[in-house]
Amino acid sequence: MKIGYGYDVHRLQAGRRLVLGGVEIAHDRGLLGHSDADVLIHAIIDALLGAVAAGDIGTLFPDTDETFRDIDSRTLLIHAGKIVHDNGYEVGNLDCTICAQEPKLQPYIYEMRKALAIDLNTDIDSISVKATTEEGLGVSGADGISATAVVLLRPM
Ligand code: MG
Repeated sequence: MKIGYGYDVHRLQAGRRLVLGGVEIAHDRGLLGHSDADVLIHAIIDALLGAVAAGDIGTLFPDTDETFRDIDSRTLLIHAGKIVHDNGYEVGNLDCTICAQEPKLQPYIYEMRKALAIDLNTDIDSISVKATTEEGLGVSGADGISATAVVLLRPM
């Protein structure tokens, strides 16, 4: 088996949509980035690529490439899943944490798990998404949202 770990942070900005785990979330600000800035999916992509030592999201989908401007991160996730498969592995399970002071994410968690399970061709019971705050401290205070992901891959 192989294990992978991913981490990402994006800044919150007014006038942007907030998309986490492929799900649009009602909020007065969204995450800033070259793509849709889905920080959770970005952490998951790095975990998947890391597990098969296939580089990282910045190398694969550079933010200097106009092809990826405002791209749906789910498209990138599906691509990362393909790389995992091409290496002869499939997702055993995925465990993630989103750090956000606000908004409350609990109502969206199930929908995120469903979207991620579809994109990764796996069962929803193999996908865990948790949400926490950093008590107003650190990068996930008022100004941004961070996410971490750990994935276990098994040979197909
Ligand atoms: Mg990112």
